[in-house]
Amino acid sequence: MKFKEFGWNGFLLEIPEGMRLTSEGGNISSGYIRLEMEGLVAEVKWDPLDKKAMPLAKVADLFIKNVRENLEKKLKKKVDLKVESGENIFVSSHGAYSMILKTGAEFWEPVYIWNCEKSKRIIIVHFISLLPKDTGQEVVRHMLESLRCHQDGDFVTWSALNLRFNIPSSLLLSDRKIVVGRTYLTFEERKPSMLAEMGRSLTIEFFSMANIIYEDTYKKIDEWFQSKYWKDLKKRYKHISFQTSEMERVMRHNVLHKRGVRKLGLVNRRTMLCENLTWYCSKSNRIYSVTYTSYVSRPFFLKRMLNEEEDKRILQSLISSFRCHI
Ligand SMILES: [Zn+2]
Ligand SMILES: [Zn+2]
Repeated sequence: MKFKEFGWNGFLLEIPEGMRLTSEGGNISSGYIRLEMEGLVAEVKWDPLDKKAMPLAKVADLFIKNVRENLEKKLKKKVDLKVESGENIFVSSHGAYSMILKTGAEFWEPVYIWNCEKSKRIIIVHFISLLPKDTGQEVVRHMLESLRCHQDGDFVTWSALNLRFNIPSSLLLSDRKIVVGRTYLTFEERKPSMLAEMGRSLTIEFFSMANIIYEDTYKKIDEWFQSKYWKDLKKRYKHISFQTSEMERVMRHNVLHKRGVRKLGLVNRRTMLCENLTWYCSKSNRIYSVTYTSYVSRPFFLKRMLNEEEDKRILQSLISSFRCHI
């Protein structure tokens, strides 16, 4: 079986090529993912790890209770859910508690639970396999052996939907739309304090089948931006403004790069940096538009300073890691 990389909310692993992300929610500190292919479902759930971590066996009991309740709701009858203990293994260098759920004769349902102190999460992975036993075991082993729940440094890799990029783990997935034709992921970071408020936001958006849907404009990216995108972007980012606009050769594509700094407000003054990169990728036949904003607001008597170094570091890392076609 062939495998491909999958990275989402701080998890990085290899999944079978035919496997797809079918459902997801939350952000890097608390959330879930559901991956599916014919004969195999993998669900990953994670929650913040408390200082006083619960014993894994207790987490397992709560998980079983939950599965049983959901089953009973679905089947509208009492269910006697049997559980066998599994082989305890190491996942991403953490000792994992393991068990096998017995919900039906045809299923093989191993569950793995562990604490990741590095990403401060408690993680539960639940597989439901209808594959031939050997194949199921082999796929599950491959996925678990390749799984990383924490990465070195403060950047994490996202790898899904045929694109890949690195961003700081402090940028939390706050909004998304994953549909045919148009997909976006929005990440946000907010740091409020007594006198100042700082924040960052990043939207990565792409439009598929660009040569058909934007037949007239996909080759003239400046025109596409003005006529098809600018209105939308202004709606989403109320104060966005650009002063410079130039074509650059990055990521082996011709990229329209817009940049601006905006100052707003009389009492609580706000300085906002806005960057946008828009390009057409012929290999994926998508138009990509990446928007980054960073702001700081303070009362007027305090100096406002954007952390330009940090913004530069984030953008450079995003651009150098970005793969728009795979
Ligand atoms: Zn970990
Ligand atoms: Zn590309």
